[in-house]
Amino acid sequence: MPPEKLAKAKRKQIERKAAVRRRQIAGSLEEWRSSAFEHALDQFDAAARRLKLTDNQIAMTKLPRRVTEVLLPVRMDDGTIRNFRAFRVQHNMARGPAKGGIRFHQDVTVDEVKALAFWMTYKCAVVGIPMGGAKGGVIVDPRTLSQGERERLSRRYMAEMIDLFGPDSDVPGPDVNTGPQVMAWMLDTYVMHKRDYLPGVITGKPMELGGSAGRQSATSRGLIVCVRKAAARLGLQLTGATAAIQGFGNVGTHAAMFLAQSGVKVVAIGDAEGAFRKASGIDVGEAIGHVVRRGTLAGFKGATPMRRASQLLELPVDILVPAALENQITTQNAARIRARIIAEGANGPTTPGADAILARKGTFVIPDILCNAGGVTVSYLEWVQNRMGYYWPEKRVNDDLQRIMEAAFDEVYTTARHRRVTMRIAAFMVAIRRVSEASEMRGLYA
Ligand code: NAD
Repeated sequence: MPPEKLAKAKRKQIERKAAVRRRQIAGSLEEWRSSAFEHALDQFDAAARRLKLTDNQIAMTKLPRRVTEVLLPVRMDDGTIRNFRAFRVQHNMARGPAKGGIRFHQDVTVDEVKALAFWMTYKCAVVGIPMGGAKGGVIVDPRTLSQGERERLSRRYMAEMIDLFGPDSDVPGPDVNTGPQVMAWMLDTYVMHKRDYLPGVITGKPMELGGSAGRQSATSRGLIVCVRKAAARLGLQLTGATAAIQGFGNVGTHAAMFLAQSGVKVVAIGDAEGAFRKASGIDVGEAIGHVVRRGTLAGFKGATPMRRASQLLELPVDILVPAALENQITTQNAARIRARIIAEGANGPTTPGADAILARKGTFVIPDILCNAGGVTVSYLEWVQNRMGYYWPEKRVNDDLQRIMEAAFDEVYTTARHRRVTMRIAAFMVAIRRVSEASEMRGLYA
């Protein structure tokens, strides 16, 4: 079969499989139907009530300031043109330029992007970095695209949205299914239009183009700082503790590596293709090697495949790391979750209904806006280095990251204790207060 036909057939097969999986998920999980953005607003309301925010303070902080939707026409390798819907949501810029990644995924919705942008505002605020919140997304299954098609899609995204972006206005970065290469294409497109080399317009770039040392592992390095602190509060020894990790991409693989380095036995891992378990502990290096070679955990021989991948969340482990997508821990499965610590590597993995169940059970949930803030923290450090044109060794970046994450964890933990609220509500209280104060100081223009 000629290569174009083969690629088309493969794309159709992947799309069919994805549609079946989406129907299965939607059928089994009620909360998939309700919106991530509604969940985000529920979280806001819970914290705003405790902060006793006024209506004016809420009006300045709660909803996104700008929602942009465009259609990206892209020429496929076979000559046909496909249109892709794409979004950029800027939630709040009271504390600095908007910051937030761009996601390529078949299930992206404007609603999801609004939720992710909202979480970015409060994530930046909780760790105290001077940036606001934004997020981008394209409805596409990137597995159906060739390298050339992915490049043309990435460039078109930047070209269509170029007026929104800039080192002092809105700084995108990577997210699910976008990495350093996509950032490099987008940077090049921006630079070619502006005729100015401005690497601070985008973060998560390859090191050769002004990326920061330590960015690739930053989210999980921050996560492990939080896990260590949470374990210490619970009196849990990490050496010999067990962990399960859902999602084995950037966040999941690095989390597995850092947990293993801390003496934790990683007994289950899973990705979009399936999950694997091994009671005596999975060789994390071997699993990462498999994913580097194959692009997926499918076919991994170092552990036993699980019949239902979602069961990974319910295993009797000490630490559970959801590091895939949102709405994974819901009212349907929260009661069956047995982990003592949930370290939210993903954004929005736990619904508000599930949160209430976990709080009643006494599960120590390290909320996403704190737990995975290491990524945006090092993105900010990358942006700082770009603006100076001076680059730090990895140790300096990692030391700054650790200091920022430890301080943020301690502040959230203290707030949770003093106000007798969950870590999630406490994190939002710390963050919303900062955004609200900045908004009030700036006041309203005109
Ligand atoms: P990635 O694309 O590198 O990896 C995503 C992983 O999730 C893949 O292994 C994929 O197979 C898996 N996955 C997708 N759907 C799944 C499903 N239904 N069940 C199980 N696994 C599934 O993405 P990433 O950068 O690792 O991001 C993962 C999560 O972490 C996302 O929620 C993202 O927003 C969040 N996050 C990432 C960063 C970062 O720096 N990369 C920072 C903060 C938050």
